[in-house]
Amino acid sequence: MSCSISFDGVLPCAMRASEAAVSTATDVVSRLGADISAGLTAEEVERRRKAFGRNEFTIKEEEPLSKKYLNQFNDPLILLLLASAIISLIARQLDDAFSITVAIVIVVTVAFVQEYRSERSLEALSQLIPPKCHCVRSGIMQEMLAGDLVPGDTVNISLGDRVPADIRLTEVVDLEVDESSFTGETIPSRKSTLPQSAACKGVSQLKNIAFMGTFVCSGHGKGVVIGVGEDSEFGSVFRMMQNEESPKTPLQKSMSTLGKQLSFYSLLIIGCIMLLGWLQGRHLLAMFTIGVSLAVAAIPEGLPIVVTVTLALGVIRMAGRHAIVKRLPIVETLGCVNVVCSDKTGTLTENKMEVTRLYTASRQRASVGKTGAVDCEGCVVSPSSHPDIVKMIEVGCVCNNAQLRGGQIIGHPTEGAMLALAHKLNLFGLRDQFVRTEERTFSSEKKWMGVLVRPRSHQVTEPPSKNEDWYMKGALDVVLRHCTTISGGGLLTPSLHEHYMSVASEYGHQGLRVVAMAYGRDLNDLSFAGLMAMWDPPRENVRDAIANLHSSGVSVKMITGDAKETGEAIAEQLGLWSPDSVSLSGDDLETLPPHQLTDSIAHCSLFYRVTPKHKVTIVKSLQSLGKIVAMTGDGTNDAVALKRADIGVAMGRSGTDVCREAGDMILTDDNFSTITAAIEEGKMIYYNIRNFVRFQLSTSIAALSLITLSTMMGLPNPLNAMQILWINIIMDGPPAQSLGVEPVDEDIMKRPPRKATDRMVTLPLLFQIVTTSLTIVAGTLWVFRKEMEDKMITPRDTTMTFTCFVFFDMFNALSCRSMSKSLFSIGLFTNRMFLYAVGGSIVGQLLVIYFPPLQAVFQTEALSGGDLLFLATLASSVLVLDEFRKMFVRRFFKKTRPREHGCSAMDIVCTI
Ligand code: ATP
Repeated sequence: MSCSISFDGVLPCAMRASEAAVSTATDVVSRLGADISAGLTAEEVERRRKAFGRNEFTIKEEEPLSKKYLNQFNDPLILLLLASAIISLIARQLDDAFSITVAIVIVVTVAFVQEYRSERSLEALSQLIPPKCHCVRSGIMQEMLAGDLVPGDTVNISLGDRVPADIRLTEVVDLEVDESSFTGETIPSRKSTLPQSAACKGVSQLKNIAFMGTFVCSGHGKGVVIGVGEDSEFGSVFRMMQNEESPKTPLQKSMSTLGKQLSFYSLLIIGCIMLLGWLQGRHLLAMFTIGVSLAVAAIPEGLPIVVTVTLALGVIRMAGRHAIVKRLPIVETLGCVNVVCSDKTGTLTENKMEVTRLYTASRQRASVGKTGAVDCEGCVVSPSSHPDIVKMIEVGCVCNNAQLRGGQIIGHPTEGAMLALAHKLNLFGLRDQFVRTEERTFSSEKKWMGVLVRPRSHQVTEPPSKNEDWYMKGALDVVLRHCTTISGGGLLTPSLHEHYMSVASEYGHQGLRVVAMAYGRDLNDLSFAGLMAMWDPPRENVRDAIANLHSSGVSVKMITGDAKETGEAIAEQLGLWSPDSVSLSGDDLETLPPHQLTDSIAHCSLFYRVTPKHKVTIVKSLQSLGKIVAMTGDGTNDAVALKRADIGVAMGRSGTDVCREAGDMILTDDNFSTITAAIEEGKMIYYNIRNFVRFQLSTSIAALSLITLSTMMGLPNPLNAMQILWINIIMDGPPAQSLGVEPVDEDIMKRPPRKATDRMVTLPLLFQIVTTSLTIVAGTLWVFRKEMEDKMITPRDTTMTFTCFVFFDMFNALSCRSMSKSLFSIGLFTNRMFLYAVGGSIVGQLLVIYFPPLQAVFQTEALSGGDLLFLATLASSVLVLDEFRKMFVRRFFKKTRPREHGCSAMDIVCTI
């Protein structure tokens, strides 16, 4: 446990949980030198941070880079290559020994850089979502990074929060914490502030401690930080977690399997080549070196790494577009999503509520103008002119937990809108005139909130019940159930009830959210005060985003806690609903017979008056139809639905820590359009990975076939070992990687979602790979035979063959940038990374041909400008042929098949 002395005085020690639990709260506060109401000062925080460090965990001790580099040699193929270099040395073939060694160093360096990049990008992912907390410092409550906490800080925790450090609780209100991550116990632990007996041990028994990493699932509390970072109980869990390898994504797994299968076949073929060479009486060491180099080149060992880097880079790019994807497999699933279920408030709309209409129980209508003036039937409302309106606003402000600070709303926007209205009418500090004695919190399930209050002026000597009133606000139908009378006198008759409902429906049709107010002594005998209607504008671009999703075959369903009319009006504005569409309420979901439920849910585009538990029903039904569902959520109770969905989308701004933890993806701007952007990226990444798989496999197969065919034809080896290794660098290195960052292609966005079970290497893809490889082999062999007309193998012959192969590969990379689109329509300069990578490889190739030290390594000689031009023209045939193939496929499918379900037959052929 950390404990240290500062220059200015003695710093208190951080405390163990067991030690703090047996002491009284006051004792712990004084031992930690804390001030529970004012918090620590900035200087004190600084002193403590120096002594205890940040509230973070240090990642595993890093292996030194040199060790990581040397580990790269620990590969059977590299070791075999080294062996052949040593044998060459012993056989006094110094040139060969030197060349092989240099080539090995280059191969190993490229592999090392690739792996290092992959590690760095994965590390960057873990830092995308820094946890926050609420802490009192220098007398002010502030939201800050949990990493900044020090022992002695005062922290507030409430429903949905992740506990940011180990905290000795000093105040609790119905506080229950989910400690299942430590104890496995799913029933929440009820917390208290009382000191515990020394016999109590372990997380589950220490009731007055809230442990870092657990979640608040009801109530709220306050306490003092006793342990941070590695000194917290979570530290030990974290250390255990570090030793667990994160599971591989399905794509990473299938790429490793593909790699293994290819390795097997390549080794088989290489074995045959070596045997054949030996039978033909070729030099054994030369055959061995060629064989091993070929194995290095043909086995796409870089494939899983390139997949990881592409996925990780995609995740980082998505973060730039406000979507934080928590796990790599999610990127793959994004391209398969065919239903998006979205909350209305805050995701499809701005969540900037503004009260625009008021209706009192006494049937007075008022509207709030743009300037903020409230007009009631031609008169401007002032605090003294319309007592019914003022009473309604009083209920709205007193039964309210939001705060208005410097024009900014802190808390629920629905409540903030009520405070803003009071502000406009100069009704400041209404809430301060009352003392709250009880609160029934708002929840999406109940749809109402109530507070029991008494005027501050009330004498303490009087019995409490005498002057206490309930103030309630909530959905109109729910509030009316608690009312028997109306404000100003009179019974709430069935016809009045119906009248108020029709007014609410009228406001709903205008897309307004309706909140009703009531007050009275008894919670079940309240007086109805009136209702407020609020406007929350749909977000810009959402309509377009929905239209884009629809056109690519993804359906969108809106889920709202609001009334039917409000939901329908907003959904209609967003192009989600028309009068002949179906909408279902939460009650419908409960009463529909099971055989109808799934079908109704599939055909419904709007769900209203739903609660979080209905979201689970919706997700399960859609999944039972084989749909891949993305579901949004912001509340603590949405966590189950988010976990259940294929992609749980949590709101980064308005969402609780619990829902952020449960989600697979977090929207940092809470905006629906961001989901569309993430789906786009997900789709693109998949197709980009397919493109570089095509590139790598065609290079591998071409290299293998070239050597096999020339051996079978009794020709000398057209490429030497170093040249084969150089080809491997191009294949596994930057040119392949840069295919993974191809920018978003509009056509791909229009394609329907992929089936999750679809294989990446399909028959059409295999066909393309084989035809490309054959073109490369035919061209290269032709050049080789042409050069060999004198029956002598010279450095010029291999240089021509080698350069021919490399040029073929560069043109092949160009055509691999898109599966179906012409290079001229995607644009030659649209992928800058690709240009750098291919440009670099060409410069590298020229150095290999013209730079004397490299000429010695690769056993090459200078070619003439005419030679290069000839080779480049020949190699471009692979691009030209592929352009024809693309054109043919595009034309053929455009003519023969109509567009179905918003996607063309061409789309289908490209996704087969
Ligand atoms: P959506 O489901 O559209 O994203 P939401 O989750 O905010 O919105 P709920 O919170 O379930 O929807 O709101 C349902 C109803 O409850 C609203 O129509 C309104 O009448 C009422 N309501 C909303 N917020 C409050 C609140 N803070 N206090 C009292 N009543 C509220």
